[in-house]
Amino acid sequence: MFIKNWEVQIIENTKTVQKYCNICDNDSEHVICVEYYGPSVGLIFLSKPLLSMKRYWLVCPICKQGDQEISKDQVEAYKK
Ligand SMILES: [Zn+2]
Repeated sequence: MFIKNWEVQIIENTKTVQKYCNICDNDSEHVICVEYYGPSVGLIFLSKPLLSMKRYWLVCPICKQGDQEISKDQVEAYKK
């Protein structure tokens, strides 16, 4: 799962998370991203993906992959 291939955005105003990446074997500052998926993604007349589902990931800055899914509650805890 490569970041450039999905509908994903880095969430502003969140802390980075120092952790070990299982994919590239590096200890790095993971960023928190939201991935949009679901029926409304790709419909150009919607300015916001209101009907879509969201998934949250810790994304490794080195390999640009999300190696751990996190919950919305965890995202709130990481907000500055
Ligand atoms: Zn990595």
